Amino acid sequence: MVTGPLDTPRERVNTCPEVADEIKNTTCYMCACRCGINVYLKDGKIRYLEGNPDHPVNKGVLCAKGSAGIMQHYSPARLTKPLLRVGERGSGEFKEIEWEEALALAVDWLGDVRRRDPRRFAFFTGRDQSQSLTGWWAAQFGTPNFAAHGGFCSVNMAAAGLYSIGGAFWEFGEPDWDLTRYFMLFGVAEDHDSNPIKAGLGRMKTRGQAKFVSINPVKTGYSAIADEWVGIRPGTDGLFVLALIHELLRAEKIDWDFLGRYTNATWLVIDDPGGAEDGLFARDAEGRVLCWDAERQVLAPAEDATVKAAAVGRRQLPDGRAAVPAFELLAKRYLDPAYAPEAVAAQTGVAAATIRRIAAELAEAAFEKEVVLDVPWTDWAGRKHDKMIGRPVSMHAMRGISAHSNGFHSCRAIHLLQMLLGSIDCPGGFGYKAPFPKPIPPGPKPAGKTVTPGQPLGGMPLGFPTGPEDLLVDEDGKPTRLDKAYSWEHPLAAHGLMHMVIHNAWAGDPYSVDVLMMYMANMGWNSAMNVQGTLHYLTDKDPETGDYKIPKIIYSDAYYSEMVPYADLILPDTTYLERWDCISLLDRPISSAHGPGDAIRQPVVQPDRDVRPFQDVLVDLGGRLGLPGFTNDDGSAKYPGGYPDYMVNHERAPGIGPLAGWRNPDGSGQGTGKPNPDQLQRYIENGCFWTHKLAPDQLYFKHANKGYLSYAKSMGWLPSEAQITLQLYSEILQKFRLAARGHGPVQPPDSERGRIEAYFDPLPIWYPPFEEAAVDLDEYTLHAITQRPMHMYHSWGSQNAWLRQITARNRLFVHPETAARFGVADDDWVWVVSHHGRVKGQVRLMHGVNPNTVWTWNAIGKRRGAWGLDADAPESNSGFLLNHIISELLPLREGGHRYSNSDPVTGQAAWYDLRVRIEKCLPEHCGATEPMMAPVKAPPRRGPRGLDDDGLHLRYGEELKCRKDAVDGEGSRFQEWIGNRHEVALTVSGVADGKGNVKKGNVKKPAAGGGSGDGEA
Ligand code: SF4
Repeated sequence: MVTGPLDTPRERVNTCPEVADEIKNTTCYMCACRCGINVYLKDGKIRYLEGNPDHPVNKGVLCAKGSAGIMQHYSPARLTKPLLRVGERGSGEFKEIEWEEALALAVDWLGDVRRRDPRRFAFFTGRDQSQSLTGWWAAQFGTPNFAAHGGFCSVNMAAAGLYSIGGAFWEFGEPDWDLTRYFMLFGVAEDHDSNPIKAGLGRMKTRGQAKFVSINPVKTGYSAIADEWVGIRPGTDGLFVLALIHELLRAEKIDWDFLGRYTNATWLVIDDPGGAEDGLFARDAEGRVLCWDAERQVLAPAEDATVKAAAVGRRQLPDGRAAVPAFELLAKRYLDPAYAPEAVAAQTGVAAATIRRIAAELAEAAFEKEVVLDVPWTDWAGRKHDKMIGRPVSMHAMRGISAHSNGFHSCRAIHLLQMLLGSIDCPGGFGYKAPFPKPIPPGPKPAGKTVTPGQPLGGMPLGFPTGPEDLLVDEDGKPTRLDKAYSWEHPLAAHGLMHMVIHNAWAGDPYSVDVLMMYMANMGWNSAMNVQGTLHYLTDKDPETGDYKIPKIIYSDAYYSEMVPYADLILPDTTYLERWDCISLLDRPISSAHGPGDAIRQPVVQPDRDVRPFQDVLVDLGGRLGLPGFTNDDGSAKYPGGYPDYMVNHERAPGIGPLAGWRNPDGSGQGTGKPNPDQLQRYIENGCFWTHKLAPDQLYFKHANKGYLSYAKSMGWLPSEAQITLQLYSEILQKFRLAARGHGPVQPPDSERGRIEAYFDPLPIWYPPFEEAAVDLDEYTLHAITQRPMHMYHSWGSQNAWLRQITARNRLFVHPETAARFGVADDDWVWVVSHHGRVKGQVRLMHGVNPNTVWTWNAIGKRRGAWGLDADAPESNSGFLLNHIISELLPLREGGHRYSNSDPVTGQAAWYDLRVRIEKCLPEHCGATEPMMAPVKAPPRRGPRGLDDDGLHLRYGEELKCRKDAVDGEGSRFQEWIGNRHEVALTVSGVADGKGNVKKGNVKKPAAGGGSGDGEA
């Protein structure tokens, strides 16, 4: 008789089982949000994860990704031991070696290159959260060739923000969710900043007083719950925003007080066409910027708080030259009819009436719904204010702005709009997260002008140039960094250009390298533009020597990603639940607009494989190589306890270390103080985080708030208590333009003058994305972009047994009208064709997409054999990767040069500039994606699969069920599982293994009378 769920006569269910014998706190790393989690452990194994209700980031909320961290930990794709390549690159043929051999080899390779020429070592990291350590390590090594993945992620957002308002969207600022009345969201990746945005949107919508407008070509996730979705054409957000500015200026709906007090609107700009200082700020003999005192009718220092500065009016300087306030230049530019809603409607795909209405709504929210808090505060000049008055308009932006070749200026346009509305760090507006705001731009400048064998760099490899003299170029103006960051091609490349490293190293342009080391960067697949080209660069050999053109590649990752087979030496990393981590104020902390915070990860379980945390390995290598920052004077290792030792004892400057909480031996220090040997324990006791809540009078106007500025200085975030004046007009950009015009000692090569002149405008501009301008738009009529599924994070989710059940393949989403135009229907297979190549995928029709745009989920498509997936996994057969058809280089220009496919100011990878057409596949070509690359060979050993009893299946949780010994009717002993009704049913029907087989294993039908066990109902 089948004992089904409903006819079990005496089912006994333990409704309150003992789920854990231990609970440990740590920080989630299933995405970049850094939520606090409680890890329930039973018998030393992870039982389940929950959100930490006390944690400031998520307050107990745990998303689908976070919950599925268990399966990330038990992923069959985990690497198990150091590997040394024995076959050709790409073959996946490795032998396992011991750590000692691996480290000795790394020291041999790295020591040699450091003694000869440290520049020939390039170190680039992916989505790790330890860039403060990795950058410091590279600096100690002495190479300028370091960066993390920001160059292909978010540098447009970071640079535009830091050069405009001293802070940035993304992780460094947030909307005032509780007070805002109008929220505009521009193209945010939904797998990033996930819980905080979801929770914020939830609070805001529950309050019911704010309008949420989403500007995004695709209506998924956040856009789907917006009050208004504006399905803009990709790459035109900047133009749309400038049209809003046009309307606000026309209606004079701007915050004059805010502009006068906190921005450089009134600073006088020299108007001297052809002159060496044309477009720079007028200064007095002491170097102070001048404005026009409208009351006294004289020139006066802009920093003088008593001056009533004029925002318009042409003035004469003592030397006879003319000057006008920055605001006047701005107003003249954006009042031009070229920015009128009618003029931009066709390009943006947003109706003129919609633009006009949104501008009016912004003005209404800002000026008729102002928020007044009865909180007295004092500004930087000592002036007392009895209230905090806010313009409750908030904005947030990320990938949709960032991933275009015009993204820097588009992001600056959004910041300009915020400044005109007076909605920067005010009640209801956008708020800085500590340690921001910083001076504009923040220091330091990029190091690497001088590279000396065997010596550290003079500073950190990444920084912020303030003019041409800070570029890393040789006497001929040629780049001196491998990725050409900080060169005339990409002067403000503050995050480097990781997407160009492999190409440039292969091409020897500007030079070749001896050793390339990467960490958590899947450059063999979804982090690469031009995947097949990149694999060629990684495997190409010098025909004369037979050596690889990139001779040695060291790679560290926890998983068998597509990049692993292309490296020579693999240093296997741990999962995030097996290591210490530092989420530092020196890096990307967990601060909110309400105060600073940082956090740690602690190992909640020990690795069951021969793997080591990469951070520990770096500290170890630093000691073995004798890097100054990692060794004592006697040559001994400075941090023998590895990364946790470094987290506690490293001081970047006296009293300032990776962690801000509980400094000094007695734990009394916050921000600054001597190292505290008990610091990690104090973090653990506090749930693995530290926060400080700002006082009410420090909460807003942080750029000009005496109480906050003084606090920030005491914490070591600011060099002084001086006001941070927001930069509507960027003099730094103008300095580059003047160099292009022939002024100044550092000159660009003639080939770069036109490009610098065009893109270094001191006021935001809009121009068509480069690929759009370079290809035949009659042939490539569509935009193609990717979106991030909320339940995945980059490529990580496809190895996750739970998350794969949500999405295991991606479709090409097409608007029905567009599909009809191309003769395509739902479920059809199509080629997506760009100027660079073609990829095949299956169509899904949807209305919520801009009709000129097709899109797909990012990084679902996988290469066969990678990530521990079976060869017939849907990810590798029906899933597809758009990266195949994106080139890392722009089409050839005059002179034979090909620029990188990047923003000309920052070097940000222009993923979203892609233009395509679609072609319906012939019937014989349907059914599987192309290009279908050969499967990569599995590593010598796959990682343990949790509680895998047959070598084929990941059966996490089986051992967590209650069980008891029993005897069957024939007298044989067996283990009886006592679970819920579903499990009882399984004992009868068996467990399908996905291939038509039914496995019963040791799962048996319960004895008559039902189970008994702990806790009968
Ligand atoms: S939002 Fe990110 S960090 Fe937070 S629980 Fe989800 S995956 Fe983890």
